[in-house]
Order: sequence, then structure tokens, then C-alpha cells
Amino acid sequence: MFRRISSLARTGLSAMAAACVALTGPVAEAAPSSKGNLPIVRDAEIEQLVTEYAAPLLKAAGLSRSGIEIILVNSSDFNAFVSGSRIFVNTGAILATETPGQLQGVLAHEMGHLAGGHQLRLRERIENAKVLTAVTSLLGLGVAAAGAATGSREAAQAGTGIMAGGTGLAARDLMAYKRGEEMTADRAALTYLERAGLSGRGLVDSFRNLDRQSFFSRSSGRNYLSSHPMPNDRAAAIEDAARRSPYWSKPDDPRLVERHQLARAKIAAYTGSPGDAKRLFSRDPRSIAAFYGDAIETHLAGSSSSALKKVDALIAARPQNPWFAELKGEILLEAGRGAEAAKAYRTATKLDRSNSSLLRAEIGQALVVSGDPAVLPEAIDLIEEALRRDPSNANAYRFLAMAYGRKGDIGRAELATAEQYWNTGRLTDARIFAARAAQKLAPSTPAGRRARDIVSTPRP
Ligand SMILES: [Zn+2]
Repeated sequence: MFRRISSLARTGLSAMAAACVALTGPVAEAAPSSKGNLPIVRDAEIEQLVTEYAAPLLKAAGLSRSGIEIILVNSSDFNAFVSGSRIFVNTGAILATETPGQLQGVLAHEMGHLAGGHQLRLRERIENAKVLTAVTSLLGLGVAAAGAATGSREAAQAGTGIMAGGTGLAARDLMAYKRGEEMTADRAALTYLERAGLSGRGLVDSFRNLDRQSFFSRSSGRNYLSSHPMPNDRAAAIEDAARRSPYWSKPDDPRLVERHQLARAKIAAYTGSPGDAKRLFSRDPRSIAAFYGDAIETHLAGSSSSALKKVDALIAARPQNPWFAELKGEILLEAGRGAEAAKAYRTATKLDRSNSSLLRAEIGQALVVSGDPAVLPEAIDLIEEALRRDPSNANAYRFLAMAYGRKGDIGRAELATAEQYWNTGRLTDARIFAARAAQKLAPSTPAGRRARDIVSTPRP
């Protein structure tokens, strides 16, 4: 299930930490500022694919034991960035990359920032820039410089304005420094790709693509041209080195190529306008990805019987694909056919080699919708087990609340609702429900303690 969540709570994402505007060019956007919520996407199919892309590169970068997390951001802009030990990848970047190698190039570049410790050094530079600003009394420039360097849109625009005025010494120093870091990360990316036995061609192609207008992009990104290297210049800077790799001509794994196209079809269907998925595959309208996009669009348009026929055809063509079975579960679930949906999700779980906790929660969610009181205990077990492995699955809490509500356990239902709000960044609502739950749950139980924790935890 492709699920958009309004914001990511507890990311600890600060403007200072969001150091990277990955592949900045005419169509790129900035990292979100600390003030705005970060819209994220949870989807087992796409998470698994990107995790598989990243695994050999993390190993090559010496980061495989660093607990690096990959988070999908619901944004149509071509971007990726790092914060702390997280790599954020926009759905727009996945949509715009035509091959697995292009997205792996983007991931390798981000790992170059992580392995190089760029976030930390950029923070020091920003502090120095602020001091310089204070000394030279350039009013407001500290903020502008910090914004430009960290990718905060409004601040960067202000920074660009000051740059145009020719007064921004501190800002100019920071921008030059940031350009240098981008080049360093590009070179590191090539090293990791070669160590992983992968071609650097995808990274070069990503830069070239960025010079053309991206499929869904609405931003021109002109403000970044002063602070970031032009994509074509970056492509030229690394292409010779990339061509010297013994893997330059090595093609992408054909199985990954199809999965990449399926992920793009899914993103186009769920985040675009009706017809976007079809347009994306207009050159290949008989491909499995084109049919997948069409099945999802039909489902989203509310034609469940037609969508079921289409997904059954997909399952017949690829009986081992867990995500087609998952889509069937979602169509049945939203048609209110909970018991059949649970069956489809069980099939998906059996086929899924990654043992996704999102999928396991979906079996429980479907059982709740089935309305059969006899299956409520199993539904609760499945959802709670999935939440122990992945406590940020906000959607699962909604169904957990329903299940406890039907059992008449109002305290736990309210606690689950509090968790749902907590994990979507609605902290005031979370506290209201946690306070109600705390009145009903004994303080000595884990649930009672958790309710009191939510009430008393300060805003992250
Ligand atoms: Zn970068």
C-alpha cells in the first residue's frame, strides 16, 4: 500500500543538518526547512527496491554497519539529501531516473556526503560565516548564507539576492565550499560504484537528464545556479573517470530494470494526475509497468471490479510478484471485502522475501475490516508484532485503534490513536488521546506507561 503521511515526526531534521541538495540543476529543489513538515511515503515495494540498490554501495562506502536508514519523501522534485544517519530520497527522483543505475548513482553521491562527514564540516563553516557576518555588519546575511548552504528555499532566494548585489562575501565563501563538497561526493560516488562492480554511467546520465526538463517538475530551481555546479559541468567532470572503470559498459540487472519501471509506474499513478502513468510509458504501452500503472489508476478512480480484473491479469503474468498480490489486497480492502483482502495480503507476505512488516500489518488491517469478531485477536497480534518491528507505521495504529474499539478496550484504542497522531507529527492531538488513555490504563502496565510518556514528552 502506497501511503502518504503528512509529516515525519521525530526526524530530528534541522536546517543545519539537511546539508545536501543532491543533483541540483534547473529542475531540482531544496531540502525542506526545519519549520515545515517533511511529507514521507511508506511503501514496502519501493522501500525494498531502494534498500536493495543501496546495500552494495553502503558496503563499498564502509557504511553498512552504520545503521543508515533510507526514507522516501513525497515530493515531485528531483532531489535526495542526507541528515544524520538518514538518506532521504524524493519520489520525484525515482520517477525521473530511467534506470536502476541512475538512482544508484544518486544514492552513491549521498553516501559520499555521509562517508565524508560533510554535514559536520558544513555546520562549522556556517558558524564561521555567522561570525564573519557579525564582524562586517552585513545585516541578515548570516541567515541568507546558512539558508543557501543548507538548501532552505526562502533563505537561499534571499542569499541569491544578496549575491547579486555583490556584497555577500560570507555567502560566496560558503557557496564555493558547497560546490567543492558536491564535486568530492561525485568522485566518492564513482569509487563506491566501481567497488560494488557497478557502472558510473547512471550517475553521468542523471546529470545529463537534469539538464532537460524533468517529467513532473514544477520548479525551475534558477536560484541554485549560483550555489551549485551545473549538472552538465558535473557530468563532464566525472565522465572521463567513469569511462575508465571496467564496469562502464556493464548493463543493469534485467530483473531490477523491470522492478524500477514498476516503482515508477506506482509513483506516477499514486502521486500524479490521472493519465500520468500512461504518459510515462507511452513508448512502451504493452509493458508490465504500463499495465501496473493502469491497474492502480483504475483502482484509484474507484472502479474496483475493473481494477480487480486488471490486477488478476498482472498476477497471471507474474505469479511470484508480491506487490501485485498486495495491490489486490488493497483493492479488496477498500471495497470493504476484508476477508478476501486478508487472503491476498497473506499471499503477498508469503512471496515477499524481505519479510516486510508493512505487509504483515496489512493482513491484520484487513482482518479488522472483515468485521468478524473471531479474528480480532489475530488481527491485534499481527499489527502489534509489525509495530514492534516498525513503530513509525502510523496507518497500522489506525486499524489497531479500530480493533481495540470493537473489543471494547477503549483505553488501548485511545492509546493507539495517540500513537497514530504522534507518528504523523500531530503532537497536540496525540497528547489529548494519550491523556484520556492514561485515565483508563493502569500506570504499572506497559500501555499505561506509554500513555503517560506521550503526555509528558517534550516536543522533539
Ligand atoms: Zn550533494
